[in-house]
Amino acid sequence: MLLTISTTYQPATDLGFLLHKHPDRFQTINLSIGQAHAFYPESSPERTTVALLLDMDPIDMVRNGRSDGNQGFSLGQYVNDRPYVGSSFLSVALAKAFSTALNGTCHKRPELVDQPLPLKATLSVVSAPAGGEALLRKWFEPLGYTMDITPHALDATHPEWGMSSYYTVTMDGVVTLQALLAHLYVLIPALDRDKHYYVSEGEVAKLLAKGDGWLEQHPAREEITRRYLLGFRSLTKQVWSEWEGAEEAADVARKEKAAAPSLHDRRLQAVLSALLASGAESVLDLGCGEGKLLRLLLKERQFRRIEGMDVSYGELTKAMDRLHYEDLPPRQRERLKLWQGALTYRDERMHGFDAAAVVEVIEHLDENRLQAFERVVFGSARPATVVLTTPNADYNALFEKMEADTMRHTDHRFEWSREEFRAWTERITSEYAYQVSIEPIGPIDDTYGSPSQMAIFTHAD
Ligand code: SAH
Repeated sequence: MLLTISTTYQPATDLGFLLHKHPDRFQTINLSIGQAHAFYPESSPERTTVALLLDMDPIDMVRNGRSDGNQGFSLGQYVNDRPYVGSSFLSVALAKAFSTALNGTCHKRPELVDQPLPLKATLSVVSAPAGGEALLRKWFEPLGYTMDITPHALDATHPEWGMSSYYTVTMDGVVTLQALLAHLYVLIPALDRDKHYYVSEGEVAKLLAKGDGWLEQHPAREEITRRYLLGFRSLTKQVWSEWEGAEEAADVARKEKAAAPSLHDRRLQAVLSALLASGAESVLDLGCGEGKLLRLLLKERQFRRIEGMDVSYGELTKAMDRLHYEDLPPRQRERLKLWQGALTYRDERMHGFDAAAVVEVIEHLDENRLQAFERVVFGSARPATVVLTTPNADYNALFEKMEADTMRHTDHRFEWSREEFRAWTERITSEYAYQVSIEPIGPIDDTYGSPSQMAIFTHAD
């Protein structure tokens, strides 16, 4: 039985770091019923493949009482499909050979753990009785894989015997390596009916752990659980009731979130609406941070060109990760660009946009740098629309945990009252020939206004 996993993620040799297996080394892992060998048939920056070869000994299986319940001698104990098909033994081998990756740890490249990668896994062969190809599709396709399934005849020299329940399966998708391994860990033994593991409560815990984050949402989750747990109803029910409890909790959280979106969500929505209403087709997000606004902009087709700029390389890297920049389809990637720059220096790259967003950024600038910012954005880049937000210091009186004369974030250099903000925006309009309208963001208090404030600057030239 052979499993191969390939990636074309660049550099593809990162697969070795993720698997905690050096591409030049051949490793043998001892299992109770034979061995598994892990090695790399190919390893280059363009494409790397790891193989896990299960080398099982049917004699060992008999000795260890791992063959089927038949205690007396039978040929079936010695001649069976176990060495050749992916089964629960594959899960055991995966858990032993690739334990760090399956647990989602990677000390050398921690950022890769949550990164969906283009991965292709081939299994030769799996057994899928009671369901066959349709079952394979039903289980793997909802997880985002494109499946290539080759059925095998029972005997190529006797086509009249018909087809077997064995398949060579290739699954192709953009998923994290941990997810791929977890999918195989759970689904392969569930496919196989001729199971050889002792099903106990321990299996419930394993199923819940390895199924975490995907199995619960899977449309065939009940069938998968039932088959994984060999139809033991009490155990299957244990899993289902875990999910129900989790669902209730998630439901409450969802409802709470829907009822009260965070202030930042509301702010981003307000900025998005203003940008859409401006008719802009190109938008520059100045001080884009980890790219929350960029993500919303990408979903709107109106924006044909979207760029994010930030002074912090760390924030830009986070933004690339969060937007899965490397894995975006080419057309999406063409729309989006991220670059490092500073708001206080004139920069040609800021020119030529219909609109700019400056969300919760100016309060991070030293007050004496603010004039440089004004010249760069309103004087030099001069987009037709600038949408800018900043906290409203008046509202701080309502934050019970805040002491008087402090600011919301230690990194804020100033926070303006509504009056100070209005005065500043008016100076901008007269110095740089813009018009402005100011809108509150968040719940409005009669005395102190709203927690955040937004100015929409426009010019007609
Ligand atoms: N707009 C984002 C991030 C706000 S936090 C959001 O709303 O989620 C402020 C951001 O401004 C940080 O990412 C910080 O790195 C960036 N920033 C601060 N000073 C800057 C400067 N001089 N030039 C460019 N970006 C700056």
